[in-house]
Amino acid sequence: MTELKPVQSRRTFAIISHPDAGKTTLTEKLLLFGGAIREAGTVKGRKNSKHAMSDWMEIEKQRGISVTSSVLEFLYDGYHVNILDTPGHEDFSEDTYRTLTAADSATMLIDAAKGVEAQTKKLFKVCKMRGIPIFTFMNKLDRQGRDPFELMEELEELLGIRSYPMGWPIGMGQSFSGVYDRHNKKLELYNPENPKEIDVIQLNGPDDPKLDEVIGDEGLVAQFREELELLDVAGDVFDLDLIKKGELTPIFFGSAISSFGVQTFLEHMLKLSPWPTPRESTKGIIDPLTHNKFSGFIFKIQANMNPAHRDRVAFLRITSGKFERGMQVKHVRLGKNLKLAQPTQFLAQSRSIVDEAHAGDIIGLFDPGTFRIGDTLVEGQEFEFDEMPHFSPEHFSAITVKEALKHKSFEKGLHQLTEEGAIQLFKTYNRFNEQQIVGVVGVLQFEVLEHRLKNEYHVDIQLERLPFSFARWVDGPEEEMNTFKKMQRNLVTDRDGRIVALFDNDFQMRTAIDKYPNIQFYENSFYK
Ligand code: GDP
Repeated sequence: MTELKPVQSRRTFAIISHPDAGKTTLTEKLLLFGGAIREAGTVKGRKNSKHAMSDWMEIEKQRGISVTSSVLEFLYDGYHVNILDTPGHEDFSEDTYRTLTAADSATMLIDAAKGVEAQTKKLFKVCKMRGIPIFTFMNKLDRQGRDPFELMEELEELLGIRSYPMGWPIGMGQSFSGVYDRHNKKLELYNPENPKEIDVIQLNGPDDPKLDEVIGDEGLVAQFREELELLDVAGDVFDLDLIKKGELTPIFFGSAISSFGVQTFLEHMLKLSPWPTPRESTKGIIDPLTHNKFSGFIFKIQANMNPAHRDRVAFLRITSGKFERGMQVKHVRLGKNLKLAQPTQFLAQSRSIVDEAHAGDIIGLFDPGTFRIGDTLVEGQEFEFDEMPHFSPEHFSAITVKEALKHKSFEKGLHQLTEEGAIQLFKTYNRFNEQQIVGVVGVLQFEVLEHRLKNEYHVDIQLERLPFSFARWVDGPEEEMNTFKKMQRNLVTDRDGRIVALFDNDFQMRTAIDKYPNIQFYENSFYK
């Protein structure tokens, strides 16, 4: 392929899915294609391996799970691919959402037997808010799953996104025979005895008699032709503009575990997905193609990677220009010059020092407490990227310090951890007894909070779980807001003084929404 500029060859994406859909399996296969790992099992086994990326925190060690997400990179056909890992199981946290702000596109992985599940839905919403392209991989076709048309309908009904199948499966489960690539008119044959051996047959179209020959099951072929015709007549047309805006998702079918359909998916996705996209800043749009100076923003801070030193690593997404080790940059919020020297790490397979990186890449910076989520670093002209939104926490606790004498350290620690984005801190609104409330997206964040306050600030805390499950940032006309503030129970303010309403359940929330038709209830502090 033709030589691309560093920016044009970058593809930075996150995989969004529900636990068990096959994200680890898919990631592993993608890394295999990129030659980043040599044998299957490396991704899964990393938790125990010498180069384990996720055993930084004691909690991680105790639990054997990764608390925060990391980055994997590989080269494929001239592309430099960065996959942002989004924690899924018990370690789901606000970081998972924030990581999506560093991605230029997303791969939505769905278990074809289960369809759209809860966590996928949550992550999809964040992608939708950003308007990034979303590529869908329907997984586990080697097992009996749901009807592909039904799955397409579900995308539209539950997620509000239209879809365009790039390929179409022939059979499923026991009868799974392959996937037809609608663009290249190629048939990939599935061989259950040896799924890794994939025969690719060039056809003249779905009516090609070769299809009958190789599939050998009349009924299956007839059904396939019928379905494809229906798609051509009644389905959406391929529209790259809509794909780029995230309004149409290309669908791929396959079986990650057998590596089936994975390469086709990767190749189409790399071609259709954008290189590092322009981003809005206080000085207008920063386009990495035309803005040659280095810039980037912090989207995640990981603490305690080395408990002996209590250091932190701030993850920076490069948005333009080139990073070189030792370069001078401006920390815009602090108005300070920084030298990006020392243990600047590139969080790849093994954490190595990086000498050079480009727009789209992620680097880890040693953080002695200088960074906050959303901070901008620039070279030359100063500007800041948009603030990072807060996302609706789902678990809440009232927090108090056990020893009143340690109040100062407690407040300091709480402030620092809020700044870092480890938790969200709220205060009760208009209550005689002001109370501090901690909100988190994943319950593990409570443990991290407790652990860090104790280890870094020598403070013991008491957390009392509260019954709320939803937080909504509210805004509306002054008069109605005044009534709302007077009448509504369980109001709090966030760290910027914005009013947030807490609800126990969906029913309670719907009731409030119906009662105050002119008030907007937002799921994130961005009011989007
Ligand atoms: P994650 O939780 O999304 O990372 O999912 P994993 O990659 O750990 O996969 C969850 C389970 O699904 C594992 O038992 C996998 O072996 C299985 N799995 C993944 N992909 C496929 C597939 O294509 N077909 C079948 N039958 N099982 C799969």
